Parts: sequence; structure tokens; C-alpha cells
Amino acid sequence: MKNVFTILGSGSSLGSPWINNYWGRSDKDKPKNHRTRCCAHLKFKNLSILIDTSPDIKKQLIDNKIKDIDAVMYTHEHTDQTSGIFELRPFFWKNKKKIDIFANKRVLSELIKKYTFCFYKRHGYQPIMKANRIKKSFLIKKDKDILKINSFRVHHGLINSTAYVFNKIAYISDCNKIPSENIDKLKSLNYLIVDCLREKKHPSHFNLKDALNLIKKIKPKKSILTNLHVDFDYYRLKKKLPKNVYPAYDGLKINF
Ligand SMILES: [Zn+2]
Repeated sequence: MKNVFTILGSGSSLGSPWINNYWGRSDKDKPKNHRTRCCAHLKFKNLSILIDTSPDIKKQLIDNKIKDIDAVMYTHEHTDQTSGIFELRPFFWKNKKKIDIFANKRVLSELIKKYTFCFYKRHGYQPIMKANRIKKSFLIKKDKDILKINSFRVHHGLINSTAYVFNKIAYISDCNKIPSENIDKLKSLNYLIVDCLREKKHPSHFNLKDALNLIKKIKPKKSILTNLHVDFDYYRLKKKLPKNVYPAYDGLKINF
């Protein structure tokens, strides 16, 4: 059975185009420039795990024919990574088991505050999720299938976001700086999936130069740039990138 990592959404907080049909500098006739909000999926043996639940999660799961979800790992609490959470109810009905939610203490408490009905009985509706606080290293299990995940904090403007590493793949979708003590956790990767918002500097995100500097430092076999702003045209960006570095697009799959 193949293990598959999928970029469900490769866009920044407003996606591409924006709601007012603004396409920035990207060519709207090229499907790879149509970007939903940043989140990802991994299928490992019989486990089906989401990283974040974007506002576009329903379209993303239908487009990628993902029919089951066992768990969600959250990178941080911003709306573009979380607001699709209530869409997951059918998976609770189907599995008759609460969906495991993995995040750090701060993110769990923000989720419980904003989406209380998912975690506690409200207005006669049963809770559908179970909150699990992550450690530096933790396991997600289903029957005999066990995925080991390492996590560490990265800076994302005024908050921290969580980076996840599993099977030589690292996912760091929202980040403007990696604390020096955590750089070593990114050695010997097969794939780095990393924030690359735009060309210009940004206070909460890597820009292109920052992302390429990180790639130079840690030398993953392949790198994929995600969280792309509407100004990045897929084909123009691809031409500029060094060998083994690629822009993400919605639906991009990696076998691992
Ligand atoms: Zn964010």
C-alpha cells in the first residue's frame, strides 16, 4: 500500500484568486495558479490524517477523493488553518469514534474556545472531537498502523507555529524564522515543504529569499514551496528556482 502526502491547498490566507476575482501577477488561465488555502493530507497505511482544516476543506477532500479522516494535526490557530473544522462531522458519524485532534496547548485551548461544540456537548449536539496535546515526539495509531511524528516550534510573526516531521518529510507552512536549536531537526530530509509567501519581506512568513536560504542550509533532497501569494505565477516562479526546488500546487502528491 502506498503512503501518500498531498498538498490540499497551496495558497495564502485569501487563496488565488481573492474573493473579488483579483489574480495579482498570476495567469488565471493556468490551473496551477488556482490555489485554495494552505493545508495538507497524509495517508500512511490505513491512517488518514489532515494537517489543518482550511476554509476550503470540503472542496479539497472531494477533489482529492479523500473519504475518511482519523486525525487532524494543527500547525496554529489562524482562521485560514482552522475554520473548516466543523465540516468534519460526517467522519464522526461514519466512524462512530471521535476524531483525534493533535496540537500544542495554546492551539488546543484556542480551538476549544472558538469551536466549543466540537469538543463539548452544546445545544443537544454530541462532541465529535478529542483534544490531544502534542509532545516533541508522538504517535498516531489505528489498529496496528502507527505513525511517529516529531514536532517543534517555529516563529510565525507574533505567535509560534508547529513544524511536523515524519518519515523524512517536514511540513512548515507558516513560518518567518526557525529557532537555531531546531535547525538540526531538519537534517537528512527527503522532502521539505515550506512557507514561501512572496518576493517581498513579510513579518510573519518566509519570502522567497528566506525559503531558499533555509533550503541551502539544510539541503533536503527535494523542496516544495507553499502558502503562495496571488502574485506568484506558478510557471514564472518555477523557472527561477534552483534544481530540486518546486512551487506547490493544489493536489500535488508525494509518495513516501
Ligand atoms: Zn498563520
